[in-house]
Amino acid sequence: MGYHIDTGLIYEKFSTKCDCPLCEIQQIVEEQFLHEFLNDAVMEDNTRIKVGKKGFCEKHFDMLYSRPNKLSVALQVGTRLEKIAPEFAVTSGNAKKLAQKLHALTGSCAICDFVEESMVKYYKTIAQMYLKEREFYKILLSTDGFCAHHYAELIKYSDHAGLTKKDYKKLLSTVQTRSIETVRNDLKAFCDKHDYRKALEPLGKAEFALPNARTKLYGKKYD
Ligand SMILES: [Zn+2]
Ligand SMILES: [Zn+2]
Repeated sequence: MGYHIDTGLIYEKFSTKCDCPLCEIQQIVEEQFLHEFLNDAVMEDNTRIKVGKKGFCEKHFDMLYSRPNKLSVALQVGTRLEKIAPEFAVTSGNAKKLAQKLHALTGSCAICDFVEESMVKYYKTIAQMYLKEREFYKILLSTDGFCAHHYAELIKYSDHAGLTKKDYKKLLSTVQTRSIETVRNDLKAFCDKHDYRKALEPLGKAEFALPNARTKLYGKKYD
């Protein structure tokens, strides 16, 4: 059985120091889809149908809007609004159910779906690499863990490590626990610094304790 995706990007990002290599990979995947949605994909029937059905979430609307080619965004948002316009004309029926349906209109996203589909292939491939590639565990062990979301996803798909799934989960947990411990220590150093007796001591990497804690909890922030 082959891998779901090419392993080159995984080796590259897992070997580079960062708070979450999967956030780095996801950013690349996301940019690829944004590029497609702003260019060729807008002309494809399948994409138009998908955008009509799902629309864009707030984050991806803003990301599309902040890039060139606003005509492409306008066409797609127009498609979505055409599709959902009748929902705003409904006033009959159970009010709570109606409100639920209205909230759901902005809760789905074509780009989120495509990104998620690709990321699942990465989670599965990483587990398979642990099983098949002798040296991969060393790279995994040398990482600084993951954000909470991506750690949960790696655990979710850990069965793809087959016979080694138990060891794989253990290694993921070791790496993640170590990384959370580092963030906790940095936060403590940051708080201690506010004690006037330690005011002159260098802050070192504790200076970034809060941004790092943010990445660990919610993932990498980018526009
Ligand atoms: Zn992440
Ligand atoms: Zn989205």
